[in-house]
Amino acid sequence: MGTLDGKVAIVTGAGSGIGQATAIRFAREGAKVAIADLSEEDTRSRIERAGGKAIFVRCDVSKADDVRRAVEQTVEKFGRLDIVVANAGINGVWAPIDELEPAEFDKTIAINLRGTYLTLHFAVPHLKRAGAGSIIIMSSVNGNRSFATAGATAYSASKAAQVAIAKMMAIELGRHQIRVNAVCPGAIHTNIQQSTTKRDTEQVDAKVKVENNPAVNDGQGEPNDVADVCLFLASGLGRHVSGVEIYVDGGMSLVR
Ligand code: NAD
Repeated sequence: MGTLDGKVAIVTGAGSGIGQATAIRFAREGAKVAIADLSEEDTRSRIERAGGKAIFVRCDVSKADDVRRAVEQTVEKFGRLDIVVANAGINGVWAPIDELEPAEFDKTIAINLRGTYLTLHFAVPHLKRAGAGSIIIMSSVNGNRSFATAGATAYSASKAAQVAIAKMMAIELGRHQIRVNAVCPGAIHTNIQQSTTKRDTEQVDAKVKVENNPAVNDGQGEPNDVADVCLFLASGLGRHVSGVEIYVDGGMSLVR
């Protein structure tokens, strides 16, 4: 018996890092999982090798048609939708505001924020039809409890807005027994540095240093540390939790 037996989940950005760990964790707990990402990587084969059920749906979360199709394919394949993890995201360009180009700002917002909106927009009708659901939005400490990442203005803005969406949706969807929460990771070892371009950030770096680091594991986390929190929120264990942001950073962002 898994805690997600009979449930169907879609996880965006599940080809790598936090999304991959979450998809695998959900599948291990009995959920059927749709991996919505630009490329498949090995998430589906890892789930299937372990005896779980998964599909890959190619999807750029910033494109409405892609997201609509991904949600439709999930429901066609598995018959329902119960859990949504809006996780796909990029760090994008980090630069002083006068160097951050409009197209660079737009790209980060399109993937991180518009992608979250699109995912919820197309998924929510199916959660309503299921009579209940759990939505998890992958935000960050940045933009919410930490503002010390030099040049990450577009990223931080997108991550703050995601928490606002989670709270708006918790109110809007509670009457449908749909819970909506945000998860705010700190430093987690993933491939996200590959989606990061830093330009002249030293010019605007406040160089906030923590001596005698007070955080659990020095604030360094693994994808599974976040996946376990997602499992709590997705499962019955989190049944009365909605409209909150949960920091998964070992306490680091309390001081930095
Ligand atoms: P990652 O780069 O390992 O994985 C991100 C995944 O998202 C990749 O598989 C990538 O292909 C996918 N993706 C990127 N753009 C996409 C698009 N347009 N459409 C569909 N998929 C797309 O990064 P990660 O660290 O696992 O990041 C996942 C989420 O966690 C992001 O929203 C990120 O902001 C958030 N986060 C990460 C950290 C961290 O330290 N790693 C900290 C705070 C928040």
